[in-house]
Amino acid sequence: MPSSRNTLRRTALGQSRLGQNFLIDRNIARRIVAAAAIEPGDEVLEIGPGRGALTRLLVERASKVVAVELDEALAADLQVRMGDGYALTVVQQDALEFDPAVYFDGPFKLVANLPYYVATPLVRRYLAPHRTPSEMVVMMQREVANNMTASPGKMGLLSVMVQLHASAKTLFSVPPKAFRPRPKVASAVVKLKPYPEPAIPVGDTDMVSLALIALLPLASVLLENRCTTASGEGLLQFSDLVTSACSLWLVSNGNIEGSRRPATLSIDEW
Ligand code: SAM
Repeated sequence: MPSSRNTLRRTALGQSRLGQNFLIDRNIARRIVAAAAIEPGDEVLEIGPGRGALTRLLVERASKVVAVELDEALAADLQVRMGDGYALTVVQQDALEFDPAVYFDGPFKLVANLPYYVATPLVRRYLAPHRTPSEMVVMMQREVANNMTASPGKMGLLSVMVQLHASAKTLFSVPPKAFRPRPKVASAVVKLKPYPEPAIPVGDTDMVSLALIALLPLASVLLENRCTTASGEGLLQFSDLVTSACSLWLVSNGNIEGSRRPATLSIDEW
């Protein structure tokens, strides 16, 4: 069993690398878990449980919690402290490689206080069809949250791609003082409810982006019109789709520095 002193020392080493800013404000933890509206029978995937600020609330409410933690010492410690008496499985693994199908037969909710560096790839991964949770309540850097949940007219590639696949809402902001150590930036909690099907077909987004680029000459006429695509609870403006199409086209053609050139731009590629 790892001693808590060892755990703390190793955790200190990994803090910056693994985004280990632990939530110390219990009220915020309660608000996050309340936002997930967990009912008896619900199964929950928690990413990055750390020292268990959210886990201890989740295990009291859900019928099953699977917590995926990359830090070996934290994972072992959590399993020892909370494993008994609760339906908790701690998996020591990179969440970007974790396959929920191995642990969940049916629907599950995803709840997480995400390390900042992993927020975008993780949301992208869990919006992919075969891994989709019924909903996600996730805390991340506030700028990224605002970008994911931007409203029409203020959207970029990230907002469009997220909102093609899910309704997205920022629930509340969380100040740096709610964590130890304190991060340099504010955080926000986002709720994402994936759609059963993307708001527009994006199986091969290359085709979508090319088609939209072909429509560019129309953009000046249509920019002010909310002509567009109903996406459940929100509307994407044509201008957002054009902006996005341009970004996708630039990325897919390798014109953005450091970008790779995907064969198609499905949900796994943006
Ligand atoms: N949930 C805890 C809380 O609210 O206090 C910890 C949150 S802390 C911001 C992020 C946690 O994610 C850390 O425990 C860190 O070790 C873990 N982590 C970082 N990268 C990870 C990854 N790729 N996969 C799984 N866990 C990761």
